[in-house]
Amino acid sequence: MRAANYYRVSTKLQEKKFSLPAQKQELTVYAANQGWNLIGEFVDVETGGKLNKEGLNKLLDLVEEGSVDVVLVVDQDRLSRLDTVAWEYLKSTLRDNNVKIAEPGSIIDLTNEDDEFISDIKNLIARREKKSVVRRMMRGKRQRTREGKGWGLPPLEYYYDKQEAKYKAKEEWKWVIPFIDNLYLNEQLGMKLISDRLNEVSKTPSGNQWNEHLVQTRLMSKAYHGVMEKEFNNGEVITVPNVYEPLRTEETYKKLQIEREKRGNQFSVSGRKNTNNIHMLRRTSIKCGHCGRKIAVQMHGTKQKPKYYAKHGRKTRMKDGHTCDISINTERFDGNVIRALKDVLTSENLAKKYINIEYDEKEITNLKKEIKECKKSIDNLKSSADKLLDLYLIGKLKREKYLEKDKEINSKIEVQEETLNKLERKLQAIDSSAFTYENLFQYMAIAQNIETELTGLERAQLMGTLFPLGVLYKDKIILITEVFKGIPIEVTIPIETDQHTWHHTKNNARTSL
Ligand SMILES: [Zn+2]
Repeated sequence: MRAANYYRVSTKLQEKKFSLPAQKQELTVYAANQGWNLIGEFVDVETGGKLNKEGLNKLLDLVEEGSVDVVLVVDQDRLSRLDTVAWEYLKSTLRDNNVKIAEPGSIIDLTNEDDEFISDIKNLIARREKKSVVRRMMRGKRQRTREGKGWGLPPLEYYYDKQEAKYKAKEEWKWVIPFIDNLYLNEQLGMKLISDRLNEVSKTPSGNQWNEHLVQTRLMSKAYHGVMEKEFNNGEVITVPNVYEPLRTEETYKKLQIEREKRGNQFSVSGRKNTNNIHMLRRTSIKCGHCGRKIAVQMHGTKQKPKYYAKHGRKTRMKDGHTCDISINTERFDGNVIRALKDVLTSENLAKKYINIEYDEKEITNLKKEIKECKKSIDNLKSSADKLLDLYLIGKLKREKYLEKDKEINSKIEVQEETLNKLERKLQAIDSSAFTYENLFQYMAIAQNIETELTGLERAQLMGTLFPLGVLYKDKIILITEVFKGIPIEVTIPIETDQHTWHHTKNNARTSL
């Protein structure tokens, strides 16, 4: 058989499995093993959702010349993902010339109705799931997980030994887990105190400060007794033992979980300090979007039936005598916050409802323009500082006046330089495409169990770590994280107009989750 290989690559998301070399390698080997005669290779590059079909057109020319028997693709969606008309045309061209489509392991004969039906379905799916890259990625990850191979970043205490294909504990960090376990179980310390103790000894393996959330994940993670457990968006949980070198026994792990539960219950029974009665945004530092003052989430109502209001911490009158009286029952957004986290972790499309992920050309152009303007204003400020110095040196300006003016200009320069710095980092990150959904997903993945396994305090700690900052408006709350090379990512969540609306949507959300 005379085979033509067709590769399609996307430049937008880094598709490791579907990179050009990977497709080429897989198909060339496959064709050779089948004893097929490779007569040509055709490539199309997809940028920003647009497909350049030059390669496909050349391929179809050869098909119509009758010099191809089979078109080989890594996955049929390489070929399809076309609109209906284009797909019908492609199919009929292939069928009329008696050309089959092959993926490694399967051949689709378009003259066979069943095959064609399957093909149509696949095309439909490929079209509807334009962003199926992420889904495929997750599928690959599920497979890797099942096979007991790890993926993603291991916990800080581990590294991947390529030669032995194993996750091993870093020798210099082996003390951390027993250290935490001892403080928690024997010295009965809480997570904040444990993170303080850790900070007295050393920073984290990645050079940061320890915090409550890091301690908590160390107490809860099964990784430290060797188990890799991953929960996927489709709800599937895969557990594989003996993936990581153990740093504690399973027995200790069980003791820790019993202790965690005990502490949660103890507090709530005594009513002294009910850790479940802490609002999830308690550790997030929130400002009022209207007046800029600090917002506190305060508990009202009874301990059995707590209500929370997000409002100004203290009533202070603003300079102009105007008062801002924002006070929002958190029931109006609690459900939306949880749903936003779930949505962001479900798919890139859903994530876009809350986060501005894509940067188009126009935005990059604007960014470059802003950078240019910023640089210009810094130059201007610097030259006025020079002129000021001249005036002082020739005696036209008194020393105090000069120093005062100079200080003024310098603080303006500082502000501009900080802005410039931010803009440049943003541009750099976009350029190096560090800002991808996958990155965001990796970062937010720790929020996956936010609804279920955590006590109120733990939930607040997790939210505080994910979103150290927030801004509250009358109709929306913006949660801010700083992860991608110092660029803040803003998650914008709507606030319902009244509680009834919320109850209604809450019920919907429950059933659809
Ligand atoms: Zn305000």
